[in-house]
Amino acid sequence: MKYNEQEIDRRRTFAIVSHPDAGKTTITEKLLLFGGAIQQAGEVRARKAARHATSDWMEMEKQRGISVTSSVMKFTYRDYEVNLLDTPGHNDFSEDTYRVLTAVDSALMVIDSVKGVENQTIKLLDVCRLRHTPIMTFINKLDREGRDPFELIDEIEKVLRIQCAPMTWPIGMGKRFRGTYHLYTKELVIFDAEAERGTGGVISMTGLDDPRLDELLGSQAEELRADVELLEGAAHPFEEEAYRAGLQTPVFFGSAINTFGVQQLLDTFVDHAPTPLPREAVSRTVSPYEEPFTAFAFKIQANMDPAHRDRIAFFRVCSGKFTRGMKVRHVRLGREVAINNATIFMAQDRTHVDEAFPGDIIGIHNHGTIKIGDTFTQGEELKFTGIPNFAPEHFRRVRLLDPLKSKALEKGLTQLAEEGTTQVFRPLMGADWVVGAVGLLQFDVVMHRLEHEYNVKATYEPVSYVTARWVTGEKKKIEEFQKKEVMSCYIDGEGDLTYLAGSQWRLDNTMDNWKDLAFHATREHN
Ligand code: GDP
Repeated sequence: MKYNEQEIDRRRTFAIVSHPDAGKTTITEKLLLFGGAIQQAGEVRARKAARHATSDWMEMEKQRGISVTSSVMKFTYRDYEVNLLDTPGHNDFSEDTYRVLTAVDSALMVIDSVKGVENQTIKLLDVCRLRHTPIMTFINKLDREGRDPFELIDEIEKVLRIQCAPMTWPIGMGKRFRGTYHLYTKELVIFDAEAERGTGGVISMTGLDDPRLDELLGSQAEELRADVELLEGAAHPFEEEAYRAGLQTPVFFGSAINTFGVQQLLDTFVDHAPTPLPREAVSRTVSPYEEPFTAFAFKIQANMDPAHRDRIAFFRVCSGKFTRGMKVRHVRLGREVAINNATIFMAQDRTHVDEAFPGDIIGIHNHGTIKIGDTFTQGEELKFTGIPNFAPEHFRRVRLLDPLKSKALEKGLTQLAEEGTTQVFRPLMGADWVVGAVGLLQFDVVMHRLEHEYNVKATYEPVSYVTARWVTGEKKKIEEFQKKEVMSCYIDGEGDLTYLAGSQWRLDNTMDNWKDLAFHATREHN
């Protein structure tokens, strides 16, 4: 047997993607309930609230009713080790979400049956499509009067451009919601909002012609038969290969708040979702079954513990086995480091990790040496790819109010950029930094944190930039370019030359004038 094979094959690492309010938190909670990770529903929300209450940065999140951070939860279900990565729901943090999606092997999409496909879901699915991420779908809130299930399936197929393979089918909805029929196991699951875990029983049927359907569902049995007949002509049968390729999504119906339908989903998930997949590096593809340990940082998060103002770098293990105290090579710095304080994020709490396998996420305390995209190996010069910076679309100039604080400002801005909240640009000429972001909300986060964590008071001034490009090319040409375009040239947080443009026209014009240089709209972390 290959190295660690059994441990790797029982791991499932995924994220939930949805539009805010579709039910992501609720379903997370129910999944953890089945995983035995929490004792009662309400804990996830309560813990989030507790965290909010003690951190002033998160106070801002609370006021705005959004979640700007993502966390990692691990639980065990049947024989499987499941890693669930939370993604921020808010639009402005799509870049952060993108990075989380580079660390998972599949995703779960939650759709509100009343609202159907919403715009945030469309954006998230675009990212999943880029990476061919396999997706399972849960259509939620069947206890409410939602839209016709055929219409919802049709909308998912058309708008999200993915084939649907219904796995269960709802019997009525809202007041008439009686449960679901599993198209493959032929199980009828009765909905009972009063019952524990929302289920009044699971009954195995011989098929749709089973007379017990009529006894239990009355006239709704005929409706179910008619629906399934229609489905046979209109829907796609489930094919694991198509799902794994990201071309087809198995669809489940339920009501997360009533825990209804969640277990069916979870069972299919652990049975069919991909095991930890190979990861692309610059020089080669890394298989999870390789013996040497490798991992990459996809997220850096501050203030996990408000008492310590600590920062944690989240690593996805890509191959080999992590053991506590092991020495690894921090490839970008070319340095050996011993990892003694890795944390694994169990849903209950943080615990120290003794060992971790491909698919697992480990958190490592970070004093500013780890950046997003950093690779750890056991000696090999390796760099995992696919964790880009996107060119910001919004810019602000930072005006420091106390000139004596310029060092603290630099430190704050650089660290926040390393976390991936924003990007910073130091002008080639002049003193004022420019902050760039993909979404506007990040500007508030930066000011708030500068003041509270770095004790720096500053204000923003508008700048007329609309886009940025990373510029590379031959040294002499670059020098010439810097001289000619000095007012638009900046150095980003990583030390790379960036051109900020005041308009698309200006950018096109500059690119035309400098055909020997390359202008990049995304930049991989290095
Ligand atoms: P998130 O923003 O996607 O994390 O959504 P939440 O899990 O916070 O849910 C948003 C709202 O929908 C909350 O008020 C939930 O109680 C409610 N909700 C979640 N699942 C269901 C469901 O199955 N039925 C109904 N009626 N409401 C639900």
